[in-house]
Amino acid sequence: MGPTPWLLPGAGRPRRAVRAGAAETRSVTTNDDDSEALNTGSADEAPGHEGLPEPCDGSGPPHVDVAGPLPLGGPLPPDYGHELSGLRIVVADQDAAAGGHLAAGLRERGAEWVGETTGMEDFLRMLRDHPADVHVALWHEALEPDPARRVALLDTWLREFPDTAIVLTADRLTSASTLTALRGGAAEVLRRGAQGAEVAAVVRHAYRTHAARHGGAGGERPRMLVVGAHPDDAEIGAGALIHRRVRDGWDITVLVMSRGSFGGDPDRRSQEARHAAEVLGASFDMADFPDGHITDATETVQAIEQVVARVAPDLLLVHSEHDTHQDHRAVHRAALVAGRRVPRVACYQSPSATVNFSPNRFIGVREEDVEAKLEAIRAHRSQSDTRAYLDEGLIRSTARYWGRFTGDAYAEPLEVVRYSAELGRSLV
Ligand SMILES: [Zn+2]
Repeated sequence: MGPTPWLLPGAGRPRRAVRAGAAETRSVTTNDDDSEALNTGSADEAPGHEGLPEPCDGSGPPHVDVAGPLPLGGPLPPDYGHELSGLRIVVADQDAAAGGHLAAGLRERGAEWVGETTGMEDFLRMLRDHPADVHVALWHEALEPDPARRVALLDTWLREFPDTAIVLTADRLTSASTLTALRGGAAEVLRRGAQGAEVAAVVRHAYRTHAARHGGAGGERPRMLVVGAHPDDAEIGAGALIHRRVRDGWDITVLVMSRGSFGGDPDRRSQEARHAAEVLGASFDMADFPDGHITDATETVQAIEQVVARVAPDLLLVHSEHDTHQDHRAVHRAALVAGRRVPRVACYQSPSATVNFSPNRFIGVREEDVEAKLEAIRAHRSQSDTRAYLDEGLIRSTARYWGRFTGDAYAEPLEVVRYSAELGRSLV
């Protein structure tokens, strides 16, 4: 990609230590997403830009239609072939055409080497001939029709080939297939007819989560990118959730798309936003689109794409489409296009969200997370005296309200746009 005139320097700053808190014992893998609930607020108190016209509804330049679950079949970015860069993969399927289809998709997306076989003996020989050298093996369940024996095989391979993540493929993802894979310790299940992007996402996740569990080099921490239109949006919408995930061991980057000139001096607001991200333990990045006039046009998409390419997030959080602020809606649309390859995408609630904001996932957070969120919001000192939605009592009581949907005292709500499942992890 070319230069990035929109991005300001300072990406990926070292983060400060996370607030100490009783670390939870739950898994640190990519299971929950986040976002939070701010207020049920009125539309005319959108952060950082009040009283602006809303020209976005249909009057702006044409853009990719992202109104449903993402355009998997849409045009690919020029770098899409690197998604599986460096991975060596075996595909075992008794149907050579079906296996060939999967293998072609894997090669297309940058796999270093893909071996194909239609039989069990060949499959095992490939793994044994390349010990510790096959990162992921896709194995169709029909190669062993008996479910009990299938579980036993998977379990055996987990010990014999500890460096290889096994992905069970099936014609349809039934509960029986999933259960078999889960009991046998497979890293993932995959529908055999899945298209390249879905295949790549599942394989990449299988490799990384397997490596994380078994100590391989690919065991990376889950990564989340939170995109906001203005300097305080990410903290207000998902501050507690960000802090909780940092405690869980996630790498989190906050990307702010404008310097918030409508809400005050842009230099000061930029510094406040950077400090707020540091309070939460997140890295920080900032673009310089015009406050109040952000569009979902190509340059916005490309600016987000560059950060997505660098961060490679497992989860992308952004504004909801159900928002009265035109900048928020534009950033939502641009982020959905830029994040079309990100396995999980969800939307957080801004104070300007409409009553149509319909959260279907609630991330429980603790007192220390809410405190960190409040501290991060306090970092936006230039705003705190003039913005009613920054009232701490309102922020706390809103998080308390959403907690009713979880077993926790507090929660932040999310609208899930896309959620790629992983075995052993809850889907909602
Ligand atoms: Zn905003």
